[in-house]
Amino acid sequence: MKEIIKYGIGVPLGLITVYPVLTDFILGLYQCRGSKTETKNELEKIVREEAPKLGLDPNKIDSHLEAHLHNSYWTSSVCRGKDDRWELWIMPDDATVALVKHELYHIYRDKGKRSFFKYYFISETRAKLYGVLGWRL
Ligand SMILES: [Zn+2]
Repeated sequence: MKEIIKYGIGVPLGLITVYPVLTDFILGLYQCRGSKTETKNELEKIVREEAPKLGLDPNKIDSHLEAHLHNSYWTSSVCRGKDDRWELWIMPDDATVALVKHELYHIYRDKGKRSFFKYYFISETRAKLYGVLGWRL
């Protein structure tokens, strides 16, 4: 019985603890993939090229080359804008094609919906794999 409790609690806690390290490793691959986007025009060009590959209309995505305050920390993210539009925020320090693809994948697959566990364990992993490897899961 002690073993069941130990593993029943230990394994999920271990996964929760190790998971950010694993995903950060994948995130680190972003930095190795392509050069950084220096200007908003370059960012918009990437969006015009990459959004249609996911069936998204680039004209409905407003791009910002700056960090966005999300859940009390500054990060890259996407969120719904007005009138069926999207706001794409890319932090200048992380502005690679892979990260833009990652955020566009959130629009494509998650449609802006976020529940903590689904986002943390499924949505982020899918988006990272698409951003780095182009896999659509
Ligand atoms: Zn993400």
